[in-house]
Amino acid sequence: MALRQDDSPPNPRLRIINLVLIGVGVLFLLSSFLPSPQLQVPRVPYSLFINQVDEGAVKRAYITQEQIRYELKDPGDDQPAVLATTPIFDMELPQRLEQHGVEFAAAPPKRPGILSTVLSWVVPPLIFILVLQFFARRAMGGAGGAQGALSFTKSKAKVYVPDEQSRVTFADVAGVDEAKAELTEIVDFLKKPERYAAIGARIPKGVLLVGPPGTGKTLLSKAVAGEADVPFFIISGSEFVELFVGAGAARVRDLFEQAKKKAPCIIFIDELDAIGKSRSGSMGVVGGNDEREQTLNQLLTEMDGFSAKDKPVIVLAATNQPEVLDAALLRPGRFDRQVLVDRPDLSGRRTILGIYAAKVKLAPAIDLDRIAAATAGFAGADLANLVNEAALLAARANRTSVEQGDLNEAIERVVAGLEKKSRVLQPDEKKVVAYHEVGHAIVGHLMPGGSKVTKISIVPRGMSALGYTLQLPTEDRFLNSREDLQGQIATLLGGRSAEEVVFGRVTTGAANDLQRATDIAEQMVGTYGMSDTLGPLAYDKQGGGRFLGGGNNPRRVVSDATAQAIDREVRALVDRGHDTALAILEANRPLLEEIAEKILDKEVIEGDELRDLLSRSISPEAVAA
Ligand code: ADP
Ligand code: MG
Ligand code: ZN
Repeated sequence: MALRQDDSPPNPRLRIINLVLIGVGVLFLLSSFLPSPQLQVPRVPYSLFINQVDEGAVKRAYITQEQIRYELKDPGDDQPAVLATTPIFDMELPQRLEQHGVEFAAAPPKRPGILSTVLSWVVPPLIFILVLQFFARRAMGGAGGAQGALSFTKSKAKVYVPDEQSRVTFADVAGVDEAKAELTEIVDFLKKPERYAAIGARIPKGVLLVGPPGTGKTLLSKAVAGEADVPFFIISGSEFVELFVGAGAARVRDLFEQAKKKAPCIIFIDELDAIGKSRSGSMGVVGGNDEREQTLNQLLTEMDGFSAKDKPVIVLAATNQPEVLDAALLRPGRFDRQVLVDRPDLSGRRTILGIYAAKVKLAPAIDLDRIAAATAGFAGADLANLVNEAALLAARANRTSVEQGDLNEAIERVVAGLEKKSRVLQPDEKKVVAYHEVGHAIVGHLMPGGSKVTKISIVPRGMSALGYTLQLPTEDRFLNSREDLQGQIATLLGGRSAEEVVFGRVTTGAANDLQRATDIAEQMVGTYGMSDTLGPLAYDKQGGGRFLGGGNNPRRVVSDATAQAIDREVRALVDRGHDTALAILEANRPLLEEIAEKILDKEVIEGDELRDLLSRSISPEAVAA
């Protein structure tokens, strides 16, 4: 794809006029500091002048406000005839001059020339405007020119128009097959909108790509544009937000206007969270949010504004913090589709390595599978970086091709950089994580509560999660029964229980699970009144948490005995969940081993395969019977 800045070229004539004006201004300023030639008469002290007058040496004097110029009657050979002095306030001067017979005259108050008056009024403001314009243009980031001063309202979107050589397609993106499958549909919308319009289907307007940095979100959206062969506007969310309230909204408007002219096309908003942060979430911040809020509102308005009859403009957006987005953004008709772009699994990493390895000279007998196996947790960008590092190492050592050793060393380098950002697991850690996650999955599968286990992964994710088990609710739930909540507690404890069952010891990896399980148990007792012994009383106070982020409800004033009873009850609920999880895992020990082996091999299990495996699990009652 060719990068094109959507600005008109700068107008050279305007440039020259600007330069000339600046020149004139500078000259004018200088001229007022330089001494003018008429001041070149030798200056003497006032006292000398008075002496000379008293001596009768002065022939005539010419007095102005700025100076007194006088002529001597008979100057010496080497003395000048005309001298000047600076007047001081002296009422007796005329009398004195008269007494000594000096011929004198005063000048009328000096009137400045018309030209200098005009210049002094016009030039300073002009200079001011030019300076302002200069900064405005710098702020716009463009080459500037004919778009005039203060064009803050122009969107800074860059337009890519796919051309043959630089086009990105789905073939350039690897390891994110699910995301690709979903986006293939979007490509189809862009290519054949009539087909969907004919049947009355509403083409989705917004697709949100969610995933950690460097997993190929930007690349994927370019690939969508490349596949559909449509123009692609790319802008980062942070570029909307400016110092001036209203500028961002105007830019959004401008962007959508441009896009509609080029429809069908794609608008890609990177880092959507920069404008789309939850409005309620930032309650505590005083001011400063107006701008972002207006920008967000404008974006929502524009997205609501397309009609089905128009040629499609599809808004793709990317974020790595979906949890902070404003709920209004995720409603139907806006970013109602969300595509997970996750870190690649083993085979995905192998394919990505293949893509980038093809771009460098590899020595024969390079084992990319080994590299893929050693790079769990790497995102696509890390892998691209890895191959490049290896090539750099080989070049530095004066070799003509990249060898296995280079790749291994490059892994170490990239890992060192990554360790700060995310975790890369050791093999024995990986094993623990595998059993832990499978434990969650099996317990979660057997527990009531409507959540279906859809994915188990031991690809490290983010700062804290070493692996994860993804449970998707089958429907949106607003009410949870006591059994559901107990099921959730058991599921959360499933990970730790699996570690106990298999390894006979526990690790620190379950801390977050325990936190959440305890929270649920506390809420069951304190908020929902679900305890038999304590009855339907709400021991937690409602509200008050709004500015503290909620969740930290203080307890009502209760007697010590009640407080102890609450603690005991919470403890009992968590213990019961733990027992349930242990029983389930004991009963399903062979399956636990089998799935864990599989996941150690593949890192991710999902879809039908996972469903088939989990459907073989049995509930502990069945074993007892
Ligand atoms: P994100 O937008 O998710 O942060 P990018 O799309 O900007 O990530 O990825 C940065 C670079 O990393 C890409 O230009 C590409 O070279 C490489 N890359 C990332 N993910 C992949 C992938 N899945 N397949 C191939 N290359 C990838
Ligand atoms: Mg990006
Ligand atoms: Zn866990």
